[in-house]
Amino acid sequence: MAEAAAAPDVRLRGLRKLYGEVVAVDGVDLDVGRGEFFTMLGPSGSGKTTTLRLIAGFERPDAGTVLLRGLDVTGEPPYAREVNTVFQDYALFPHMSVEENVAYGLKIRRVPRPERRTRVEQALATVRLSGYGGRRPAQLSGGQRQRVALARALVNQPQVLLLDEPLGALDLKLRQEMQIELKRIQREVGITFVYVTHDQDEALTMSDRVAVFNEGRIEQIGPPAEVYEHPVTEFVAGFVGVSNLLERNGRTISVRPEKIRILREGDRPDPTAHVETGTIREVVYAGMATRYLVELEDGGSLTVAVQNLETTSAQALEARGRSVRLEWRPEHMLTLETRGEKEHG
Ligand code: ADP
Ligand code: MG
Repeated sequence: MAEAAAAPDVRLRGLRKLYGEVVAVDGVDLDVGRGEFFTMLGPSGSGKTTTLRLIAGFERPDAGTVLLRGLDVTGEPPYAREVNTVFQDYALFPHMSVEENVAYGLKIRRVPRPERRTRVEQALATVRLSGYGGRRPAQLSGGQRQRVALARALVNQPQVLLLDEPLGALDLKLRQEMQIELKRIQREVGITFVYVTHDQDEALTMSDRVAVFNEGRIEQIGPPAEVYEHPVTEFVAGFVGVSNLLERNGRTISVRPEKIRILREGDRPDPTAHVETGTIREVVYAGMATRYLVELEDGGSLTVAVQNLETTSAQALEARGRSVRLEWRPEHMLTLETRGEKEHG
């Protein structure tokens, strides 16, 4: 089976799923490579969960195919697929200990007790919960419970782990800690992760590649830096980061807030830069950086982010109403496609 060995872990082709009139997934094609951390990012209702459920086998597609390591599993039930799923509501068994929760899948599959014990210990060590095996879920924090849920999936050593907004119930600080933790675990165990989130920071932080979903379709697939710095559509530019769109000469252009320089008196302009002039209308001091909303003379407005290296909040706020000159390098200016225009115009 040399062919299967070379095949991607997950391959979707022409995947389509309808719920009555609603087209939840509308022709999705993607490949997820071995050991990849692959994220499906998009707003609520864009078809991420449905796509994940189609991979897991909880749903059957109306059209298209699901291949796992080259094997067509489109017609197979969930238990016949080498995948495991971690949901946001991690649904641990409350009457069982942590150890029993993690061992559950192995017990069902009649893995002998000594091996079970070793694998459970190993899985708990991976999620840094060694020594917690005897506790009940109620005796754990939210983050710890989520780790148990993860251990319960990892212990089965699936080829592919599917994760649907697993950190959605945690507060921001814990979520950021768990993002780093999840990435470490994924690297350590080498299992392919297909991860669903609506949170762009989360997607950019953890992923090897991101697929941006919009209305059941993928608008762009690429590494985080590429999706952020070179969004190909207006939707991607707006959803991943602050979009900063301008209409110039009949085209839609975009430039990221941190790529724009506000020139002060005495600053020497860069002769090769793109230049706009305008007035600062809003100032938002946000600790690490200040965001300025600048209304431009040639129409439109831009958000500019400036790191607060020396600026105090008072100095930043004083800038309101000031006339400024903005510049950015031509390579940081992107020309975007508007999908809506292509389709309806
Ligand atoms: P996401 O996970 O990106 O928020 P979903 O895949 O859950 O999006 O949903 C995509 C679309 O399909 C939405 O319009 C949603 O309302 C619809 N949908 C999802 N599941 C069902 C279902 N079981 N029955 C009817 N409509 C559904
Ligand atoms: Mg969802």
